[in-house]
Parts: sequence; C-alpha cells; structure tokens
Amino acid sequence: MVEKSIENNKQECIFCKIAAGEASSYKVKEDEKFLAILDAFPSVKGQVLVIPKEHMGSDISDVYNTSIETFNAMMKFVMDTIDLMKKKLGVEMVVVVWEGMAVKHAHIKLYPVNDVSKSQIVKPPIGVFINGPYPGFTCTAPGPKLSDQELKDMQRKLRF
Ligand SMILES: [Zn+2]
Repeated sequence: MVEKSIENNKQECIFCKIAAGEASSYKVKEDEKFLAILDAFPSVKGQVLVIPKEHMGSDISDVYNTSIETFNAMMKFVMDTIDLMKKKLGVEMVVVVWEGMAVKHAHIKLYPVNDVSKSQIVKPPIGVFINGPYPGFTCTAPGPKLSDQELKDMQRKLRF
C-alpha cells in the first residue's frame, strides 16, 4: 500500500520534475544523488530545501527504511549545505526540519538563523501555538509552558 501511494505521487511530484530538469528551480548545491534548492516559499531569507533526486516518501522513516546508505548520504549532503549556508550567508546556525506534509517527496528544510540571540527575544503572533494536533505548520519558537501533569502524561505516552 505504501509503495503504491508513493508511486502514484511520483507522477505529479514537483521535486521529481525539478530533479529531472522539467521544472525550474534555483539550485545552490548538487551532486549525483541530491539537490539543494532555494525554497520558493521561504519563511526566512535564504531558506533552502535538500531533496534526493530519486523519489522517496516524505516521512523520514521512508528514506531510513528504504536505504540507510541513502539516509546517511543525505545527512552528509545536508551538513555540507549547512556549511555552505554559514559561509555564504554569514549565519550563526541553521535550523533543520524534516517535515514533508505538502510535497510527498523526501525533503529537508534548512532555515538560516542570522542572530541566535535575537531569535530568543522575538515574540511570534499570539495564536501560533496550538499545543494540540499538528495544524499544518510549525514554529521553532518556544510555546506555552506545560504543567508537570501534562509533561508526565506525554512522557507516559512516549516512553519506550
Ligand atoms: Zn518525487
């Protein structure tokens, strides 16, 4: 079932088209297996996407379970891209997000952080934090503090 749904998605996959040169993109780094491109819908200046050229499901487990070698090579490519972003953009750090809810082709989002100290004081708009089911977006700023009971309940659910 999973294989079939991945195969169906491949037909109209924008990242497959970009990898094949059938759709335009702004490449910043490339090797035989991976591409780093500018995110066409950045939330921060200089946001980059890393994608494998081969179609793989967007859940991190899909890549890991398909090929640990590919997973490791992708992480190496991500680290090289982060080094490039730090040097070229002069940023202090890069936030890494593996999400893949909208495009069902594995991709890692890289968010350059210009000034780490400022990122701690900027207050995002009220209502951004849901602290409930995933609403279709995420934010790396801290949300409201959970109670000890809420933390214990979540620990009970997650504990191995
Ligand atoms: Zn694809």
